[in-house]
Amino acid sequence: MALSRFEYVKQFEEEEKLLPNCWIVVRIDGKGFHRFCNVHSFTKPNDLDALQLMNFAGMTVMQEFNEIAIGYGQSDEYSFVFRREASVYQRRRDKLVSYVASLFTSAYMFHWKRIFDSRSIDMRYPPSFDARAVLYPTDENLRDYLSWRQADVHVNNLYNTTFWNLVASGLSNADAEKRLQGTLASDKNEILFSQFGINYNNEPIIYRKGTILLAKSVRVKDKKQRLIVPIFDDLISDTFWVKHPEILDKKAKTDDVFDLAENHTQPIILYQLTVQERRKAGHNKGEATKNLLETGSS
Ligand code: ATP
Ligand code: ATP
Ligand code: MG
Ligand code: MG
Repeated sequence: MALSRFEYVKQFEEEEKLLPNCWIVVRIDGKGFHRFCNVHSFTKPNDLDALQLMNFAGMTVMQEFNEIAIGYGQSDEYSFVFRREASVYQRRRDKLVSYVASLFTSAYMFHWKRIFDSRSIDMRYPPSFDARAVLYPTDENLRDYLSWRQADVHVNNLYNTTFWNLVASGLSNADAEKRLQGTLASDKNEILFSQFGINYNNEPIIYRKGTILLAKSVRVKDKKQRLIVPIFDDLISDTFWVKHPEILDKKAKTDDVFDLAENHTQPIILYQLTVQERRKAGHNKGEATKNLLETGSS
């Protein structure tokens, strides 16, 4: 097609390429989720369904990009770590950041009914997520980044768990805040234990540690397949990185089958298996596309 005389405006576009050989972390964060959680009656301080919905959206992003080494979600945020050698969109910053944010957001909406229909919670207004890309040159920097996010969930969750127990016991929000002013982690643990009989370490691990997403080979019904699996673990310790060497070193990828253990009933696992079943049935009947489309509304 001949160039129009308007075509020159294309030259005004700037293209930023993310530095080669660095880890790329794309982190999305819910915009104004403090309000979004209130409007949609999320349980305080942790709504398990809302966290599971975040995991569904995180799974969708992981399925789309095979160059993501690890995903990590907590509260209203998710981090996606693209491998050093990732060539997605030729490492164009705008493309990558905007695509991850929009796919995450649309997946969050796509799966909303699946999660919240049973509680009759309708979406009252469209949620949005911001996104940024951050580059980390060394493995240590990357591990520290993930440790920072996991330490963040620990600090916030210990505070919030104590705060909301104080409020439930009759304190006003302001008084609960005053009570916690200047307290250390050990003080909050003590309040939880002595006043409410709660051992913080027994709180659900998804609340305390967030959700790690990894692509793993798992065995289901005697068949080996690759799924995005949720893992609830301490990623600050070395043990985690020894257990999952393929995160930092792609070549360390093993054919080992990952044991889902008690996580085989996690919603995103059940969902992926259901989709596969449908896909298989669809293929058999030559209706793959139709079935795939239908999985959105089931
Ligand atoms: P910003 O737009 O600056 O990100 P925000 O209101 O989203 O503002 P954040 O610092 O991102 O603020 O905090 C997220 C808020 O959402 C917190 O108040 C947190 O408690 C709440 N929240 C996130 N996930 C859940 C959940 N699963 N259950 C209950 N509350 C949640
Ligand atoms: P990229 O991911 O690089 O943006 P793309 O396939 O989305 O690739 P675009 O350059 O954005 O490519 O072009 C959008 C394409 O979608 C064009 O081929 C355009 O003709 C088609 N398209 C957009 N809107 C409509 C529409 N309403 N009806 C039919 N075709 C459409
Ligand atoms: Mg937010
Ligand atoms: Mg946040």
